[in-house]
Amino acid sequence: MAKFRERALNEAASHTPARYFVEKGPVSSYFGENVFDLDKMKRYMSTKAYEAVVSAVRYGSRLDRSVADEIADGIRAWAVEKGCTHYTHLFQPLTGTTAEKHEAFVSVKNGYAVEQLKGSALVQQEPDASSFPNGGLRNTFEARGYSAWDPTSPVFILDGTLCVPSVFVAYTGEALDMKVPNIKSIQALSQAATPVARLFDDNVRSVRVNVGLEQEYFLVDEALYNARPDLVLCGRTVIGHTSAKDQQLEDHYFGAIPERVSAFMKDFETEAYKLGIQLETRHNEVAPNQFECAPLFSDVTTAIDQNMLLMIVMQKVAEKHHLKVIFHEKPFNGVNGSGKHCNWSMQTNTGINLLSPGKTPMKNLRFLTFFSCVLKAVYDHNFLLMTSVASLSNSFRLGGSEAPPAVMSVFSGSTLASVLDSIVSQKEMNDDAATADSIGIAKSIPEIILDNTDRNRTSPFAFTGNRFEFRAVGSSMNAAAATYVINSAVAEALTTFKAEVDALMAAGEEKDKAIVATIRKFVSESRNIMFEGNGYSREWAEEAARRGLKAITNVPDAYEIYKDPATIELFTKLGVLTESEIEARYEVLQETYVKKLQIEARVIGDICLNHVIPAAVSYQNLLVRNVRDLKEVYGDEYKTLCKSESETIRKISGFINALSEDVEALVEARKKANKEQNMAARAKMYSHEVAPIMDKVRYSADHLEMLVDDELWPLPKYRELLFF
Ligand code: ADP
Ligand code: MG
Repeated sequence: MAKFRERALNEAASHTPARYFVEKGPVSSYFGENVFDLDKMKRYMSTKAYEAVVSAVRYGSRLDRSVADEIADGIRAWAVEKGCTHYTHLFQPLTGTTAEKHEAFVSVKNGYAVEQLKGSALVQQEPDASSFPNGGLRNTFEARGYSAWDPTSPVFILDGTLCVPSVFVAYTGEALDMKVPNIKSIQALSQAATPVARLFDDNVRSVRVNVGLEQEYFLVDEALYNARPDLVLCGRTVIGHTSAKDQQLEDHYFGAIPERVSAFMKDFETEAYKLGIQLETRHNEVAPNQFECAPLFSDVTTAIDQNMLLMIVMQKVAEKHHLKVIFHEKPFNGVNGSGKHCNWSMQTNTGINLLSPGKTPMKNLRFLTFFSCVLKAVYDHNFLLMTSVASLSNSFRLGGSEAPPAVMSVFSGSTLASVLDSIVSQKEMNDDAATADSIGIAKSIPEIILDNTDRNRTSPFAFTGNRFEFRAVGSSMNAAAATYVINSAVAEALTTFKAEVDALMAAGEEKDKAIVATIRKFVSESRNIMFEGNGYSREWAEEAARRGLKAITNVPDAYEIYKDPATIELFTKLGVLTESEIEARYEVLQETYVKKLQIEARVIGDICLNHVIPAAVSYQNLLVRNVRDLKEVYGDEYKTLCKSESETIRKISGFINALSEDVEALVEARKKANKEQNMAARAKMYSHEVAPIMDKVRYSADHLEMLVDDELWPLPKYRELLFF
């Protein structure tokens, strides 16, 4: 067997299940021990400093420089006690990942070494920001970007390093990260939702967004992973014939978790618990070697911070287990890809879930108010919402009859759908409703008892009883790109809702009637987004087009929605993003798309020239030699004897020729695209001209994999990568 692959397979076989972080005692005894929470703050700070942090966390007040030193001192004391040597600002740049730059605590003065952390260093850092994408927001001569501590997210320890969750902004104050607009969108939503919630309860002071992120991922043995240049460099396999057995039997989903995997899961869960991440569920997913975990939902910034942290922790723990976690949305052709389902809901400061249908008609009126606003929000900005999760890697998954379709729709379940129907079909409220409002409402709004089993997994935006599940978010993404669009769109709809109710009331309408009338208006205006059927069917694709719902067929083309006046108005009106920040994001998205596809195109070319073609030629030579030998021994009779060999030789030649030509064409297409100076235009050339050639290259390479002797094939195959 090809030496490289053989070595990898032997090494993989030697990796046995083991646990590395076995903790004594129950989870509760070490939960959160690596987080500098309020309790620890009390212990390590003066009351004055403690109160300053609490007020920054609760009310977003600014931290005074005078207390910053003391806060930093307390944090440093705790961290050094726990064995930390370094600290870092951890932020979420526009690449969708996380970034960190470590600084040592130790400083030597007059020959004496002391550990120290100055308040100014805690609060603000200036990483060499010019290397982060900024979409032209910073010219290189003022390439300064600042990371600033976001005290609403607690500091924590990871791998002997104190991590300070931060926002990342340009010298000029513009956001260069995913977190800033998300925080602003939460404020916008609270501002818009609170007056609407107060229509039903005067005690409401604020509304928060809760999110629960389910994380899907693949696991691959480290030795096999390292033997696949495409997995190492692109996070996915750019070639590879499907395995004879993959997910046809559906025997992996919810099946028994293999011992090696379960040891890994227990270990990363232990580390996650220490970081205060409350993981709830773990199970196998549909594809072989695909798994999922989900924490308990929390407020949206915490949920996203913790998700980003969890991804880091999982990868670090995996190293100990000689595993690699693959977060790419579509690492393997032919089996399901991975998502990061985003469960989204709104909750008042009084603890009410605004998307929870109640038992009484009045509670249902509140529920239907918020439900109809989400419906309208998703309808009004359906393409923007879908585009918020569009990336090169997610494009291999969406619309592929395994993940949500690439066109937006909302699934509400049969009970709710019929309630909404009846609301819309009733043209006028019953007149006898005029007296006791609750009676009137009771007639028009039946009690809503939802059927828990009523689930539609083909819908991108499904109502699941007390929340919406946005299922199109990609597994490798920062979910903030999706949540700040949802938050903003819903904030806009709620503002309109309140304005319309106010207008009706000003015209003399009763409050409850005004509310019902507005719900009816919103639902009927947004009906085109509602779809209860099979989202994967051809009929739906056609129906969606008839309804004017646009599908994402091409990622760089979809990004044009960021230039749409409705998008710009949405974000700027709410103060979530300025026009130049939107423009910057658009540029970064296009540029990231180009860079990623460029890497993939190079990798597939290299693999074909350096691995696939040489292996195919070796095998071809072997066959040719055999034919020659047969001729020598059997004379003319050889023709019948080696009929099949000759056929194979011809097929192999055909694929080798096609492959060489296509790789050459790929290089040319790339060169041509790279000459284009405008990044958006270049992205379009990459997606329309480069990507299709990659498909052709893969076609030949995968056929060669089936023809060439397994002994000669240099790369680990799907059946080896996908099964433990
Ligand atoms: P399923 O796979 O059936 O969708 P999971 O248990 O895997 O369910 O994940 C559901 C996620 O939704 C969890 O993270 C859970 O905490 C979260 N969740 C539950 N209720 C809410 C809510 N009201 N708002 C936001 N997220 C929620
Ligand atoms: Mg789910």
